[in-house]
Amino acid sequence: MNDDRDGKLTAYRGKRRFDRTREPRGEGADAGRKPVFVVQIHDATSMHFDFRLEVDGVLKSWSVPKGPTADVHDKRLAMPTEDHPMEYRTFEGVISEGEYGAGPVIVWDEGTYEPLAAGTDGKGRTFAEALEHGHASFRLDGSKLHGAYALTRFRGGEESGERESWLLVKKKDARADGRPAPDPHRARSARSGRTLRQVAEEASEETG
Ligand code: MN
Repeated sequence: MNDDRDGKLTAYRGKRRFDRTREPRGEGADAGRKPVFVVQIHDATSMHFDFRLEVDGVLKSWSVPKGPTADVHDKRLAMPTEDHPMEYRTFEGVISEGEYGAGPVIVWDEGTYEPLAAGTDGKGRTFAEALEHGHASFRLDGSKLHGAYALTRFRGGEESGERESWLLVKKKDARADGRPAPDPHRARSARSGRTLRQVAEEASEETG
């Protein structure tokens, strides 16, 4: 099996003990379909949204403290986090206390996306190359998020050695309806309809 494509999951796995957490270790990928995206809400040390795009067999990931909106005027800070395995897109549950990212996680939105004209200079970059160069746009087809968005790096990266900071912004189109990000405490899973609190309560019932 192509267990860990080019060691991309080394950082992800290094932070986790898979005998202690129910998060996936990352085993394989399926090909021949549209790339997927997922937005999880994660009540860890601080509440945040995890925005993830499938790129070359892994989930490229950004932590978005205030969450994505459908308002073109909102520029949402998005801090890159380590690539996650594809299986993470369905992960809902509670990461145990004492483990990396401890706290409940729900899948707030999920779906597929389509890369839009990649890059800023018309050089025919792939989507992965556009992201490496710090700017990519894409059209989301989720159950909550729709239409064109862009991710743009504005600090760090390349040879600077500085931690990267990005912005996640809704682009103008018919789906830019000004809808704000949800209240993370009240938001419900696109998969199970559960809130973070319900996921946490069910997990504590399971373990007694
Ligand atoms: Mn997270």
